[in-house]
Amino acid sequence: MAKSHLFILLCFLLNSVSSQTTVDEPTMQALKSHLNLTKDVDWSNPNPCKWPTVECSNNRVTRIQLNNKAIRGTLPSNLQTLTELTVLEFFMNQISGPIPDLSGLTRLQTLNLHDNLFDSVPKNLFSGMVSLQEAYLEYNPFSPWEIPESLKEATSLQKLSLTGCNLTGKIPDFFSSQTLPSLTSLQLSQNLLQGELPPSFGASSLQKLYLNGQKLNGSVSLLQNMTSLIELDLQGNAFSGPIPDLSGLEALSLFNVRENQLTGLVPPSLTGLKSLKTVNLTNNCFQGPTPEFGKSVAVDVIAKTNRFCLETPGAPCDPRVDTLLSVAESLGYPVKLATSWKGNDPCDGWLGITCSGSNVTVVNLGRQGLTGTISPSFAKIASLETINLSNNNLTGTIPNELTTLPKLKTLDVSNNDIYGGVPKFGDGVAVVTSGNANINKDGPLSPDGGGGGGSKKSSSVKIIAPVVGGVVVAALCLVGLGVCLYKKRRARPAKVQSPNSHVVVHPHHSGDGDAIKLSVAASSVGGSSNSQTPNSEIHVVESGNLVISIQVLRSVTNNFSEENILGKGGFGTVYRGELHDGTKIAVKRMEPSAVSDKGLEEFKSEITVLTKMRHRHLVALLGYCLDGNEKLLVYEYMPQGTLSQHLFHWKEEERKPLDWTRRLAIALDVARGVEYLHTLAHQSFIHRDLKPSNILLGDDMRAKVSDFGLVRLAPEGKYSIETRVAGTFGYLAPEYAVTGRVTTKVDIFSLGVILMELITGRKALDVTQPEDSVHLVTWFRRVAASKDKDKDAFKNAIDPNINLDEETLASVQIVWDLAGHCCAREPINRPDMGHIVNVLSSLTVQWKPSEADPDDLYGIDYDVPLPQAVKKWQASEGLSQTMDDSGSSSSAYGSRDNTQTSIPIRPSGFAASFTSVDGR
Ligand code: AMP
Repeated sequence: MAKSHLFILLCFLLNSVSSQTTVDEPTMQALKSHLNLTKDVDWSNPNPCKWPTVECSNNRVTRIQLNNKAIRGTLPSNLQTLTELTVLEFFMNQISGPIPDLSGLTRLQTLNLHDNLFDSVPKNLFSGMVSLQEAYLEYNPFSPWEIPESLKEATSLQKLSLTGCNLTGKIPDFFSSQTLPSLTSLQLSQNLLQGELPPSFGASSLQKLYLNGQKLNGSVSLLQNMTSLIELDLQGNAFSGPIPDLSGLEALSLFNVRENQLTGLVPPSLTGLKSLKTVNLTNNCFQGPTPEFGKSVAVDVIAKTNRFCLETPGAPCDPRVDTLLSVAESLGYPVKLATSWKGNDPCDGWLGITCSGSNVTVVNLGRQGLTGTISPSFAKIASLETINLSNNNLTGTIPNELTTLPKLKTLDVSNNDIYGGVPKFGDGVAVVTSGNANINKDGPLSPDGGGGGGSKKSSSVKIIAPVVGGVVVAALCLVGLGVCLYKKRRARPAKVQSPNSHVVVHPHHSGDGDAIKLSVAASSVGGSSNSQTPNSEIHVVESGNLVISIQVLRSVTNNFSEENILGKGGFGTVYRGELHDGTKIAVKRMEPSAVSDKGLEEFKSEITVLTKMRHRHLVALLGYCLDGNEKLLVYEYMPQGTLSQHLFHWKEEERKPLDWTRRLAIALDVARGVEYLHTLAHQSFIHRDLKPSNILLGDDMRAKVSDFGLVRLAPEGKYSIETRVAGTFGYLAPEYAVTGRVTTKVDIFSLGVILMELITGRKALDVTQPEDSVHLVTWFRRVAASKDKDKDAFKNAIDPNINLDEETLASVQIVWDLAGHCCAREPINRPDMGHIVNVLSSLTVQWKPSEADPDDLYGIDYDVPLPQAVKKWQASEGLSQTMDDSGSSSSAYGSRDNTQTSIPIRPSGFAASFTSVDGR
């Protein structure tokens, strides 16, 4: 007995001695005191090496991994004393203040601080970090900063993500494989970067390059040399000029250049790439034939948003179009021409083109700011009588071929930078060459460079200019040789590294009326060993390992016990659970009856799509499970349930009614989440089923949009997708209900209805109301129409549970108008989500002028995406339900939130129902 006491005492002493001798203890204690640790992080042991989420080796701290724990506070300034650190991770918390100086952490391999509230970055952030392999700082509200020069010192860097970090300035020019030899993934999306692509990209080993959503511009010609590329996203910039020869990019899988100003023909070197899985060319100025890609490629080209000659993929253009496009090619395919030169008939109002019948007789492109050279292709337009290219910045020579034009009367190239001799034209051709300093000289040499020289001098109109054919040919040869040599020097052999298997999303047109569906393809590029069997497909989602085993999910939900049921929706039942690390989760379990092959495919592809959408106001997908018949999605747990509970069932649930400030904040959160879906995600998505039961609330009553079961890729501009109508009665935009046509404006309508509900406290459909007031939108419009005459009608329409003082009333009035605007009958008259965000944020700022709660900063941009947005499994027709007008749930578990169940509806049947409630 005495011996065992002695032993325990010894252990205790040893333990305390060892904890005292940890040199890192003071820093770790400082860290602890700076952080506002939540209960589930127990850092009470005197020895930091014993703290959960901390690891030591040889009594030195080597890893700190305190992720996703809702931790606030700041980081202490002395973290750089932890010189043995290899992993430093605090991602997905609410830590604020500056990122401290970490320079000199020579052993640090992983720095992961994404999704926090850090406000600044030290200038020497990467100094001396020679072991750093991965750095993720995305989605922090940093004050504007530039990519630091010290990044060059992180010579082991493989992956860098600075997405949504408020980066400004230019992309520095040190990304070549000489400087950063291991860098394969660079994510700089959603910043404020400007300028052109740095030349060093062309000499880099980058496999993934994400630069979408910035102000970048200039040419993309250096892509030709980025032969390691697998994923490229340049969406939403201002890049111009043509796509270069991409035949060397033999591993390229994703090519997204949507929303730029790219011009020219889509080259066969892109359409012919065998590795290609996803292409997005929409909203550019591409010309020529609509490209035709292989069947396995998911293509988003939307012909109408470009300048193709015909909409049918692969259909050849009229020869006149081909010829004029090769003229444009020599001019670098200027945007000005691309904007006007669309369609298949140049005689149909093309800029500078005049026709006689269907024959082009005049090309008049004087004073258009053109650069480039004069194309010999002019010679193919035999009907040409006049070519005017005067007062531009053209260089090169006058092509000899032009002398063969039988009807040519005038060639005016005056006031350019043309050099060389003037070819011998036939009698009666007026050739105007004045204002070209080097005309009749050997080349475009400077005045003191010999050869050419001279200032721009006037040489008047000549009829039949002297022939200096030999000089022209020599000059052309020189230029040609130069180009060849240049190309040869730049071309590098295709280098295919071996990435992990990855997933590509395939939006494709299906034959069944749903215009765009999503499917998934897993591909192993470059001999990756990650081969997939049908049952191992669950590993294909690229963004981290999201797979959670069925055993874990059974255990954390107490075998899906009834007492853990949170609710029931169209997908199946949702259960509460808690992972061993304390993370609370919500588990959606698909009804086994809903499983089919098609469904499985959709389930997987939606996971793939939605893991790419991450936003603070979209409920996060934490993981998923596919195991035999079991299909489950795991979400972050939203402890305060749904907005509909708080708005319509607060009494039964013994809650307080929502005050106006809270309602406004919720509306703004939702608008921000949906704005991201519409415009800020990699692609534009439409939710299609916005309603209070799909808005979930956290403990802080901040709202997140959930339930992405009906999400569809958004069509471009005014063009809309015709799709099977789905959604919820009361929230459906009329055009969608009647025609099945869906644009982002259907979400605007639904949000308008939600605003009406927030103002009035009434449900979108309320059968307890008199017959003419059942449908909220109709009733609201009636009150709005009488509002000016009858002030009381407006006041009486406001939820009596809102405390109305003068200020509140003014604020309600603005939201009232906004709601009416959102629910305009014509989609074109509804605002876009950006406008709604602006209106609501101006009100919340007014409303919370001096409240300092850092979590309630409505005035700042809240695109700090925590989660990945998610698709709810939408059961096929078998799961269809009919609207329960009584407002009671059809759920076996009686969840109050399912009073308005999403239902796929056949358009004709639904149109009739809608008309009856809308009264139109
Ligand atoms: P749903 O699949 O949307 O239709 O979900 C059915 C119900 O489950 C909802 O109305 C909520 O009450 C509950 N629920 C769904 N997701 C969550 C979540 N992430 N956290 C808490 N409750 C949830």
